[in-house]
Amino acid sequence: MNGLSAMAAAPSPAAILAAPSDEAFRAGIKAWFAQELPRLAGARYGTAEMQRLAFRREWEDHVCRSGLSGLGWSEAVGGRPLSLSRQAIYHQEYARAKAPLAVNLIGHGIVGPTLIAFGSQEQKDRFIPKLLGNEEIWCQGYSEPNSGSDLASLTTRAERRGDVYILNGQKIWTSFSHLGDWCFLLARTSSEGPRQRGISVFLVDMRLPGIRVRPIRQITGEADYGEVFLDDVEVPVSCRLGEENAGWGIAMAAANFERGTYFIPRIVRLQTELEDLVRLAATTQRDGRKAIEDPLIREAIARLLCDAHALRLHADRMLKQAEDGVPPGVEGSAVKLLWSETHQRLFDLAMDIMGPAFQYGPQEKLAPAEGLWHRDYLWTRAETILAGTSEIQRNIIAERGLELPR
Ligand SMILES: Cc1cc2nc3c(=O)[nH]c(=O)nc-3n(C[C@H](O)[C@H](O)[C@H](O)COP(=O)(O)OP(=O)(O)OC[C@H]3O[C@@H](n4cnc5c(N)ncnc54)[C@H](O)[C@@H]3O)c2cc1C
Repeated sequence: MNGLSAMAAAPSPAAILAAPSDEAFRAGIKAWFAQELPRLAGARYGTAEMQRLAFRREWEDHVCRSGLSGLGWSEAVGGRPLSLSRQAIYHQEYARAKAPLAVNLIGHGIVGPTLIAFGSQEQKDRFIPKLLGNEEIWCQGYSEPNSGSDLASLTTRAERRGDVYILNGQKIWTSFSHLGDWCFLLARTSSEGPRQRGISVFLVDMRLPGIRVRPIRQITGEADYGEVFLDDVEVPVSCRLGEENAGWGIAMAAANFERGTYFIPRIVRLQTELEDLVRLAATTQRDGRKAIEDPLIREAIARLLCDAHALRLHADRMLKQAEDGVPPGVEGSAVKLLWSETHQRLFDLAMDIMGPAFQYGPQEKLAPAEGLWHRDYLWTRAETILAGTSEIQRNIIAERGLELPR
């Protein structure tokens, strides 16, 4: 009998969710990932194929259709009520299993909870079941060519005409716009008064006439995001979320839904990458000795280990605050800043360790580790920009946290 067949089958998702203790929940979910990920991936297991969009979508469909979606959502909408600490355990084990990043992050992390909080019954009935089964992918249309950090300056217009709104304008950097079935979109419905009071949220079917998506190729060679052009797009009034002109408050609430658990998978992933980096330093020869014997490399690794530990403590505190019902404060900005900059430093160090071999990208046969270090190094450049740039996070920490003058 080989090792795999000797292993006991993992409990079913329903049994895992009903586990009597957090320890049993952790053991169950860990066993499920350890069984299902290699089974679904087959020959792709442990290869770069697992990080590609096709497998990411396949895996996400499998997880959702097995009953592991809507974690923390109420039973009334078909969700699986789960405490924040168990959601955290789920995300930790997901990242430890090196399961690929989901595609429908916006749908599950932002749209679902926002619809549950602000949607009409008709909207919940229409959209939530499709989200639970991962049948519809969502993208987020906030940023525009002249509105990023200063989001309230957005100019995409929505004019009401009877039972529809006519949308005109342009969005940019819309992640997964080419895959998106629906877009969670902000548009201006009034130019009167303060800018924030004239914005509404729309749930926009990406297949409506007048919508054109143009993918943008990133430095990694992939085109995960794009521009979205809206020309006289007719969106039914039933697809407005919340009241007209109340969109800013909904967008701010939407940003807070994931605060307790958002960074957990990212921080765990950073820790597993750090373990891979230490292995890389221990096995790579530089100037006639192992890279890890170089005092400068050791010092850089030590600093990364300290930062990773600090991040873990921050994440624990954010989770505790969320469990106690404390509204998210500047903590989220501090974690975003530390995580994105530490992550970039980790890949900078990988480049130093690997030397010229680092230049081989995923398409090249000579690339060590299938070029994934190279690809992820390039991808981390985006992390100090997306979801609020480092400068904006520093402003928030300075003004709201340290109460420094503007
Ligand atoms: C990979 C990736 C995915 C993304 N996905 C999405 C998505 O799905 N949906 C979406 O809507 N958007 C998305 N974005 C867009 C992202 O939210 C914006 O890029 C970000 O908010 C910054 O806006 P901007 O690019 O317009 O830069 P700008 O706001 O124009 O900023 C340009 C520079 O000026 C600095 N700056 C601006 N204002 C200040 C200030 N007050 N003080 C100090 N410095 C300042 C910034 O830090 C930056 O360095 C994505 C971006 C990336 C990189």
